[in-house]
Amino acid sequence: MEKITLIGAGLTGPLMATYLANHGYCVDIYEQRPDMRKESISAGRSINLAMSERGNHALKEVGLYETINPLTIPMRGRMIHDLDGSTHLQPYGQRPNEVIHSVPRAQLNKALMTLAEETGKVKIHFNKECTDLDLDKKTVTIKNSYTGETCIISYELVMGVDGSASAVREAIVQKGAFSYQKKPLGHGYKELTMYPKRNGDFRLYSNALHIWPRGQFMLIALPNKDKTFTCTLFFPIEGPISFETVNDESEILKFFQLQFPDTIKLIPDLVEQFQQNPVGQLASVYCDPWHYQDKAVLLGDAAHAVVPFFGQGMNASFQDCSVLSSLIEKNRGNWSDIFSEFSRTHVQNGHAIADMAVENYLEMRDHVNDPEYKKRRKLELKFEEYFPEKFIPRYSMVSFHRLPYAEVYQRGEKQFRLLDKIIKNLKSIEEIDKTTALTYIKDL
Ligand SMILES: Cc1cc2nc3c(=O)[nH]c(=O)nc-3n(C[C@H](O)[C@H](O)[C@H](O)COP(=O)(O)OP(=O)(O)OC[C@H]3O[C@@H](n4cnc5c(N)ncnc54)[C@H](O)[C@@H]3O)c2cc1C
Repeated sequence: MEKITLIGAGLTGPLMATYLANHGYCVDIYEQRPDMRKESISAGRSINLAMSERGNHALKEVGLYETINPLTIPMRGRMIHDLDGSTHLQPYGQRPNEVIHSVPRAQLNKALMTLAEETGKVKIHFNKECTDLDLDKKTVTIKNSYTGETCIISYELVMGVDGSASAVREAIVQKGAFSYQKKPLGHGYKELTMYPKRNGDFRLYSNALHIWPRGQFMLIALPNKDKTFTCTLFFPIEGPISFETVNDESEILKFFQLQFPDTIKLIPDLVEQFQQNPVGQLASVYCDPWHYQDKAVLLGDAAHAVVPFFGQGMNASFQDCSVLSSLIEKNRGNWSDIFSEFSRTHVQNGHAIADMAVENYLEMRDHVNDPEYKKRRKLELKFEEYFPEKFIPRYSMVSFHRLPYAEVYQRGEKQFRLLDKIIKNLKSIEEIDKTTALTYIKDL
């Protein structure tokens, strides 16, 4: 096989296309949107994203890391904003390189497309929507988004990198023998921009991810290179305090005065933005397997859309590309083996990060200010410092390592139970020195 067809040129599509081109394949990508490098369109979803080790690793593999890294802003930890306006930083890790990076989605997407095209083996067809897929005949129906005309194209092998509402996944679902579940979170999100100060400076400390945790909901803010912050309110879609009820000027102001009073002067056009900007939906997608025979495979959000609270959707998607690429290297040309091994070994990782991302919503919006949480956090950093080979906090395993997510989940659960047991009998964290810690760590 020489040619592979991809549906979708979001973040995952062009990256996978580059890996494929590097393996010698020619790639056609069909993307429903116009070319964002030529037309001014939104890159969709969030304006910026947190990039961590898994994403960085894939960018290094394809040679894009050096281009993207200068566009990013390192975030050392979570800056917690309490109701009374006080703030404190909770570092993400304990080593200088244990930071995550705020990266602009549009610039990243454009750079990935250009990189793919520069291989000379990838052609991106813009304004071409996949409306139907016949997995047995190996044909895809493509609709021109401008003219509405459709045509049927034959393919040899198709990869669904068409995001959370994937048409390729839908075609596989229709074939049966495929488990698929979409779990809506019940909470949505709205983005608001915090513009720089009059003198051009950031309005908040720039090397942190800011969080205003408020129990049932939260506001976060990530820095951008133009000194703005992209703020995102994660909030119930419906209910007594929700996007449904907070919508007119007085309700919006009342809500912000009550919950996020310090942000009112930081976002002077708050009401206008709140009323103009859309509410995004959030859901987790679980499916298994991620392939159909040797004919089709799913990657990225098409395979495992996850809620954004671990900042891992894109990172996980980039890791998919890296993992699939190694399997292509290993089983050259044997797509049946490549896809079966991909599903057999990697689906569980997609499910694990989907679960951990939902759990992290609770941590971010509620637990970060809980004394028990703070105690556990101190203790886990201490254990990691003493025994870095044996104990790594879950956040670090996810963000600063490339361990399979399923392994992270299992190790994290064990560690959590251990810490819980210790904390129950502990008066002060200072009681735990290296010798005492060693007796506990044996239980892991
Ligand atoms: C609010 C929010 C914040 C996030 N923050 C982070 C973060 O901090 N860190 C992180 O790692 N991840 C984050 N994510 C997740 C991240 O956005 C996704 O995981 C990532 O975009 C997945 O890339 P993808 O290419 O698989 O899908 P997408 O980015 O959705 O791209 C799919 C592409 O396919 C195209 N397409 C769709 N259907 C068709 C069709 N039928 N025919 C042709 N083309 C089609 C679309 O136009 C699009 O270009 C966040 C997500 C949200 C919603």
